[in-house]
Amino acid sequence: MGLLGRVWAVCAFLILGTAGAVGWLVDRRIERDLLDEIEQSLRARAALLAPLAWSSMETPDAGLHERLTALDRETGTRLTIVREDGSVVADSREDAALMENHRDRPEIAQARDEGFGISLRHSRTVRERMMYAALPLWRDGALAGFVRTALPLHSIDARRSHIRRAVWTGTAFAALAALLPAFLLARRVTGPARTMTRAAQSIARGEGARDLPLDAPGEIGALARALRDMDGELQTRMRTLSSERNQLRDVFSGMTEGIVAIDRDEKVTHLNAAAERSLQASAAEAKGRPLWEVTRLREVCDAAARALRDGAPIAAQIRISGPSRERTIDLRAVPLRGADGTTSGAVVVLDDVTELRRLETVRRDFVANVSHEIKTPVTALRGTVETILDDPAMPPERQRRFLERAKEQALRLTALVTDLLALARAESATGEIARVPLDARSPVQETLDALRAEAEGKRHALTADLPPSPLAVLAEGEALRQIAGNLLDNAIKYTPEGGSIRVRLAADGNHALLEVSDNGIGIEPRDQERIFERFYRVDKSRGRDTGGTGLGLSIVRHLALALGGEVSVESAPGRGSVFRVRIPLEAPSAPVP
Ligand code: ADP
Repeated sequence: MGLLGRVWAVCAFLILGTAGAVGWLVDRRIERDLLDEIEQSLRARAALLAPLAWSSMETPDAGLHERLTALDRETGTRLTIVREDGSVVADSREDAALMENHRDRPEIAQARDEGFGISLRHSRTVRERMMYAALPLWRDGALAGFVRTALPLHSIDARRSHIRRAVWTGTAFAALAALLPAFLLARRVTGPARTMTRAAQSIARGEGARDLPLDAPGEIGALARALRDMDGELQTRMRTLSSERNQLRDVFSGMTEGIVAIDRDEKVTHLNAAAERSLQASAAEAKGRPLWEVTRLREVCDAAARALRDGAPIAAQIRISGPSRERTIDLRAVPLRGADGTTSGAVVVLDDVTELRRLETVRRDFVANVSHEIKTPVTALRGTVETILDDPAMPPERQRRFLERAKEQALRLTALVTDLLALARAESATGEIARVPLDARSPVQETLDALRAEAEGKRHALTADLPPSPLAVLAEGEALRQIAGNLLDNAIKYTPEGGSIRVRLAADGNHALLEVSDNGIGIEPRDQERIFERFYRVDKSRGRDTGGTGLGLSIVRHLALALGGEVSVESAPGRGSVFRVRIPLEAPSAPVP
C-alpha cells in the first residue's frame, strides 16, 4: 500500500472509530433518557390512578374493569390494581378473577420495600415484554395495596429503534462526509513525497530529475533542491565516467597487444581487436562466456586461472599455429583487485612477438653472412701477402701475379662494402627517399654509357630502346642509376660471351617500365623469388667467380619499393631472363612536354 493509501487508511480508521464511538454514546444516552422518561410517565400515570384505586378498593364495583379498559385504550397503558396481600382487584386487560397472586412480582416487591417499583420483564399474563411501574397505596399509615401501570415494550422498542436509526444514519453520513476531505488532505500531505519519489526514481533510471517541487516551503523544498544538486553531481560523474570508459576502450582497441579481461568466474568482460586475432574469437560472442569456451588455447586459460587463484602475475611464452605459420606470443596474466582488496578478475596481455623473433633471426643471419662474405677475401688477401713476405727471393713475375690476386681480393672487398652501404641506404630509405620529378632517360643512359665497355669486353650486343621524348618520373636519379646498373651488370655477368642484351624504357599505364633482358643462363623457377634475398646466389662458387656479392637484386628491390614501384622477373633456364622495374610516372594523365 502506498503512502497515500496508508495515510488515508489511518484517517478513515480515526473518522469511523470516532463516529462509531460518538454514535454509540449518543445511542446509549438517548436510550437511557427514553427509559427514564417512560419510567417517569408510568409513575405519573400510576399516581393519577391512585384515587380511583382507593375508592375501588373500599367498595369494589362491577364497572371498574370497564373503566380501566377505557383508560387503557386512551393511554395505551395497562392498568392494574392490587391488594396489599397481592390479589388483583382489577386489570385493564385481564379478568382479575383469573389472574394469579401478584405479591412476588418484582415491581410490587420493590414498591413495598422502597416506595416505588420498576421492572422490565416478560408478562406471563399477556405474554409480552412489558415495562412495569408500581406505587404503594397508603391508608391511615398502613399499606392498603398497589397501583401498577405497564407499557408493552414493543412500543418502547419501536421508538428506540426509530431514534437509533436516526442517530446511526446521521453518524454514517457525517463519517462519509468526512472521508472525502480526509482523502484530499491525505493526498495533499503525501503529494510532495510522491513527487519526490518519482523524481528519485527518474534520477535512478538516469533520466534526470523531473518536476521537482523546488519552490515548496520548508523541508520538502530543501529536499527537492538537494535532490537536484545530487542529480547534477551524478550527471557530471556519469559523463566523466563514460568519457573515461570511451578513452579506455579506444586505447584498448588501438593497442597492438591482445587484451582479455575476465571476471572472478573466468567469464570474459573485455576482448580487444588484437586479442580477437590472436585467440581467433569474436568479442561480441565471447563477452559473458567462460574463457575456456572462447579459446582452445589451454596455456591462456591456465595462466588466467592461475593468476585468479594465486593472485600473482604470471608470464609465459607460447606458440600457436596461425593460419599461415606458427606464431610466438608473450603472455602475461595479471590479477585485478576489487575495491575490497580481493581478486576480482584478471587481465591477460598477449604480445605477438613473431615478427620480432623473425627480425632477430634475420639480423643474426645477416651478421653471420656479412662476416662470412668478408672473411673469404680477407683470408685470401692475407694468404697472398704472407706468401710474398715469406719469400723475399720470389721472382718478380710471380710476385706480380700474387699482387694482382691481392688487388682482386681488395676490389671484391670494396665491392662488398659498397653494396652493403647501398643496401643499408636502400633499406633505410623506404618512405624517406627524396623523390623529385626527373626524366627517367638520363640515369638509364648514364648507366648504359658506364657499362658499355664491360659489355663489349664480353662481346655482347647491347641495344638500348629509350623513348624519344622525356619520361617524367617521381624518383631519385641515384636510385634509378643503381637499379639500372645492377640489372645491366647482372645481365652482362650471367650471359655467356657474345650474348645479346637489351635495355628498354617505356611508359606503361601510370608507370615507367624499365626492362633489362638477356639471352643468358636464366634462372630456375624455384630460385626466381629467392634471388631478391640478401646474399642469395643461385650458384655460390660461380657467383663469387663473377665478382657478385649476392646483394645487387635486394638493393634493386628495396630501391624500387622506396620509389613506390616494384620489380619482377621472368626467366627460363638456358634461354635468358627479363627483369622489369615499374616506377610511378610524375603526372600519369598529363603528357610530358
Ligand atoms: P650477385 O651480386 O651475385 O649478382 P644479385 O643479387 O645481383 O647478386 O643476384 C642474385 C643471383 O641471381 C645471382 O647470384 C644470380 O645467380 C642470379 N641472377 C641475377 N641476375 C641474373 C640474370 N640476368 N641471369 C641469370 N641469373 C641471374
